[in-house]
Amino acid sequence: METGTLREEKASKSGTPITTVKNFIGGKWVASASGRTVPNINPAKTTEILCNTPLSTREEAKAAISAAKEAFAKWRATPAPVRGKLMFNAMLLLQERIEDVAVALTKEEGKILRESRGEIQRSINIMEYAAGEGRRLKGSTIPSELQNTFIYTIRQPVGVCALITPWNFPVAVPVWKLAPALVAGNTVVFKPSTYTPLTAVKIVEILEAAGFPPGVINLVHGGGKTVGDELVNNPDVSAISFTGSNLVGNAIYAQAAKRGIRVQCEMGGKNPIVVLEDADLAIAAEGVIQGGFGSTGQRCTAASRVIVEASVAKKFTEVLQTRMRAIRIGDGMDEQTDIGPSVEENQMNTVLKYIDIGRSEGATLVAGGGRMQDDRHKQGYFVEPTLFGNVNMKMRIAQEEIFGPVVSIIEAKDFDEAVELANNVKYGLSASLYSQDMAKIMKFAELAEVGKVHINTPTIGGEAQAPFGGIKSTAIGPKECGSEAFEFYTELKVVYLDYTGKKRETNIY
Ligand code: NAD
Repeated sequence: METGTLREEKASKSGTPITTVKNFIGGKWVASASGRTVPNINPAKTTEILCNTPLSTREEAKAAISAAKEAFAKWRATPAPVRGKLMFNAMLLLQERIEDVAVALTKEEGKILRESRGEIQRSINIMEYAAGEGRRLKGSTIPSELQNTFIYTIRQPVGVCALITPWNFPVAVPVWKLAPALVAGNTVVFKPSTYTPLTAVKIVEILEAAGFPPGVINLVHGGGKTVGDELVNNPDVSAISFTGSNLVGNAIYAQAAKRGIRVQCEMGGKNPIVVLEDADLAIAAEGVIQGGFGSTGQRCTAASRVIVEASVAKKFTEVLQTRMRAIRIGDGMDEQTDIGPSVEENQMNTVLKYIDIGRSEGATLVAGGGRMQDDRHKQGYFVEPTLFGNVNMKMRIAQEEIFGPVVSIIEAKDFDEAVELANNVKYGLSASLYSQDMAKIMKFAELAEVGKVHINTPTIGGEAQAPFGGIKSTAIGPKECGSEAFEFYTELKVVYLDYTGKKRETNIY
């Protein structure tokens, strides 16, 4: 079988040939004709170029949309349980390839192998869940006020869906869009981030091998302003599911609104962990390690603010600082590593810039604060896990998404102030509380202005069968994952059926 990569004439500095990944359009792997590529660099070892990403043309995006449009009628008519069965096949294939995909993920994104395997396991779970939904794509029956009249609803696919995804969860985010979109009967054009082409190719290879017909899934690599823009503005695209930054997501929303099409955007976060004085401080510190520094802080759900009751702030900072000293930073391919690099140079520079901003705003640098330049780290984009104390909510480091291993400690005089501080940002994705006090736990779950709350666990993670997504400036449109995902990918139709068999007065309202 032809695959998504192509032996390239170019050679890397080391003389090893570099491959350029292909697009997948209308059931065929095709090389982009643009001739323009960007290197996919291993962020832990920047001398290693993993492949080239083609910067495909607008015409190639149009061709993918046409292929998806053409495939739609037949795919829509394929029974939902049959569509679900193909997703189940894909799940089995991903299970077989878990190590292969995990290695590609760690090498191109930087997260450690354990996290890569976890991300793929979550994707497997999502595929399993969505496959089952093929047998459950239910409507409802509704009582009529007229005799011998039957009202029911059916769920139908929307059409061609554009799926535009970020680099930080390059397997799970595409899968949580692809799986419900396809099982619901839509055809798709998938545009991954240019930083993570290898994992995108592997997912699509798996879906192809699972038996999805030509044209149902299309993959186009390339930039946001060309391929992305075409997907957003092409009249044959009926729905856009986007995950990424607020800057891009808000612009996509505005463009989609002009065409009156459905759009779903999941964007940034500035997630708090609240630590109350009755919390087990060691467990809470572990939560900050996982939530704040895990995945190098490159999670939309990363905890970048730790709001601590003043009575335990000093003690908690000491516990956290001690625990931070044990973090091992390095290449994610080494099983001993806890934290990998920033995904690429610009992202690392953004993180370093925010560390400078924190210093200049008057926050106290408690730990870390710079790029790691020793022999083990100088070849990668490694930033020390960084902790700021004495942070207040007026500071930019407390308000803006940094997307790196930088955590700020903010003191609150009591529970009420902690909740106020937790909510005092434009974002609303995830929030955690560490406490044993049931009344405060219940109050926090009620008052936290976020899409998901974690009690005595960090802000990160989620299960396939539960809905996922934010509120406030984090998100636009229905939730992803769980059965809720199908709300976005289906139209609900109401059918009125009269079985009196004779002419009669209809109600006129
Ligand atoms: P990004 O916004 O830069 O890019 C996301 C995708 O949009 C990429 O595929 C990119 O090529 C494409 N794009 C860029 N410009 C475009 C345009 N004009 N038109 C159409 N597409 C365009 O985001 P990123 O840096 O890849 O990802 C990091 C961001 O993603 C963070 O803000 C993070 O919080 C967010 N994120 C959110 C969630 C969530 O579920 N809330 C999950 C993961 C990541």
